[in-house]
Parts: sequence; C-alpha cells; structure tokens
Amino acid sequence: MKKSDTEQIRAANRVDIINTLRVFGPLARVDIGQRTRLSPATVTAITSDLVAEGVIREVQKPVSATGRGRPRVLIGLNPDHASALGIKLSINEIRLMLGDLQGNIVAETVVTADTQSLDQASLNDLLVDQASRFLEDYPDHARRLVSLGVAIQGIVDAHRGYSVWSPALSIKNVNMTAALEAAFECPVELANDTNCIAHAIHKHPEYLQKPDFAVIMIGYGVGGSLILNGDLYSGHNGAAAEFGHTKYTPTGPTCACGKAGCIEAYVADYALYRDARALIDLPETDRRHPSEDEMRHLTQLARDGSTPARELFDRAGRVLGFGIANVLALISPERVVVTGPGVRAYDLLEDSIQAGIQEALIPELVGRTEIQSYPWSEDMTGKGVIALALGHFR
Ligand SMILES: [Zn+2]
Repeated sequence: MKKSDTEQIRAANRVDIINTLRVFGPLARVDIGQRTRLSPATVTAITSDLVAEGVIREVQKPVSATGRGRPRVLIGLNPDHASALGIKLSINEIRLMLGDLQGNIVAETVVTADTQSLDQASLNDLLVDQASRFLEDYPDHARRLVSLGVAIQGIVDAHRGYSVWSPALSIKNVNMTAALEAAFECPVELANDTNCIAHAIHKHPEYLQKPDFAVIMIGYGVGGSLILNGDLYSGHNGAAAEFGHTKYTPTGPTCACGKAGCIEAYVADYALYRDARALIDLPETDRRHPSEDEMRHLTQLARDGSTPARELFDRAGRVLGFGIANVLALISPERVVVTGPGVRAYDLLEDSIQAGIQEALIPELVGRTEIQSYPWSEDMTGKGVIALALGHFR
C-alpha cells in the first residue's frame, strides 16, 4: 500500500471517530471500536492524537455501583475546540446560529430583511454583514470558526453552491456561498432546508442504521429529501427529491413555483390558508407566509368541527398520501418521515394520508414501509445545517 493510501485511510478513520462521538456523545474506547468497527489499536492511536490536539477529552471516570471493576474512561468531543456558523434564509427572515463542535446550537439570532428585494450584490453584502455582526458578539467562536452552512427553501444546486429558485428570493440562480467563503476564508456548505432536516434526523442514533428513508417537510412549503444507501441523495442537478413540486393533478391550484397542481399547492400552509379564506371568515394574512398563530387557529377550527376546514385538511392528507404512494412505488424506503411545522395538524391528516396511499397503490406496492410523523422543532434545520458544515472539520 502506498503511503498516501495509508494516510487517506487514517484520515477517514479519524473523521469516522469524530462523527461517532458527535452522534452518540461520550463513549468508552471499546464502544468507539464497536461503533466504527475499527481495531482497538487504531482507536487508541487516533484518540491519542485527538486528545493531544484538544479535539476530544476524557469526560468522566465513573466507578461501578459496587465499587468493583476498573473505572471506564469515557471520551467525548471537546465542544469548545471548533465552531460552525449556520445561516437559514427564508422569506423576509435570516436566522443565524452558532454551533459548537458537538453540533449543539449555542447562540442564535433572527434578523428581518426584505429578502424579495435583494439582487446578487445586496444579498452578498447582507449575508456577510449579518454574519460578521453576529460573530462580533462571540469572539471566541469567531476565532475557532471552521466552516459555515447556509440553508434555504427551494431548489438548490448543492454542488455549485447556488440557489436555483427559492420562494425567499425574487432572483434566480444566485451564488449563495462565494461571498461568505471569501469573507470568512473557510468552506461554506449550501443545502436545501429539507435536506438539512433529513441530515439532522439521519444523525439521530435511531436513524443512523436506516440506509433508505424519505423525509417530507410540510409547513411554509412542502419539501422532500431522500437518504439512499445511507447518504443524502442530491441527484444529477443537485436538487433531487423536490417532492412538493411533483404533481397531484395538472389542473390543480397554483403553486408558489408558478406551476399548477403541485402537491405543495394543496398541503403547504399558504395553500391551506388561501383555500380556507375562500370558504371561512378568516383574517387576511401575508399571502406567502401565514403565521404560526393563524395556522393553529385554522387547525383548531377543523378539530372543532368546521366542515370546510376539516375537508381542506382531508384533501391535503389525501394529496400527501398520493405523493407518498409515488415515493413508495419508486424507491420503497424502509420509512417515510413526515415533519415540519405542518405536523401541528398531523392528527387531521393521518387517516387521509393512509386512505390516499391505499387508493393510489395495490397492497403489494405499499409494502411494509412505515409512515410516521417526527416532532418538529425550529432547531432541526439549524442543527442539520451546522452538522453539514461540521463535516468540514477533520
Ligand atoms: Zn410547485
């Protein structure tokens, strides 16, 4: 074996150990070996280097309850060794989040901005300016910043760092990474917001062993993400799994993307609220982005027995069921995870999702795929984008 090959394997093993400690938290060396399938000698050699560099540290030496046996030394990441900055750009809002090496969000702030009025130059200035201001308040993190991650709604070319189309911006084909890379002199990852959520779920110990699963995000839009053979699948154009813009019917309502009959045009918050306003007396709202309170009000109306509201959620569930049926027929994943702010109404959607799937597919194609909701928190996109950015820490 050539020297460069040995070095590459060692570097890959090192990343493997760092990622394992990020997912599982502090572990004994023997458990690191089991999780990574690396030999005890390799684990000892690499962890010694990492301790010497301050990347990992011994975190506790618990003695068994009986007081007998050798105390096991646990080692974990030193969260203060490196930091990553996550930026989530959505309609009229920029969320900035600082993550430590463990991947925890340690500080965040939300800035409002008229994102629709931006051109490439003013977007560059805004991102760099807001990131710099935020980091000024956290000089220790700024000093050990290793990477940035940017999450944005819409179609993303992750390979090139471009937002191809996003409801947050009126311009298309926008370079989201170059200005930040130049300003902070470190790598910048760009990802679609649903891919960030899928990445966060995939790093959960329960999902780590699941090679094939689909994530569907419902809420301000409808997004999709595929984990295939254990990896995020981004496709030839870097924008795969745009589940929300697959079609229910070509003659359906208008979608935020401009086309008609997309699944999103029935299921997204803006679609439900728009169609509900035509039938029920509801306050006027931001057309593209009803608030959480407005959506909770509409959801409660359906729970309280409002027939038109109930029928809209039934229809949304059925459309979602047809969409999920296509995913099952195409890739037969082990699990389909539905998450996002829209799971606030999952109790109203669940039965019609199942009914839609049964109506769309013969039982043999439905198979044994589990369809389940995953509790939503605002942090999920942030944790995912920070985890993606921390992939650059080696
Ligand atoms: Zn669409």
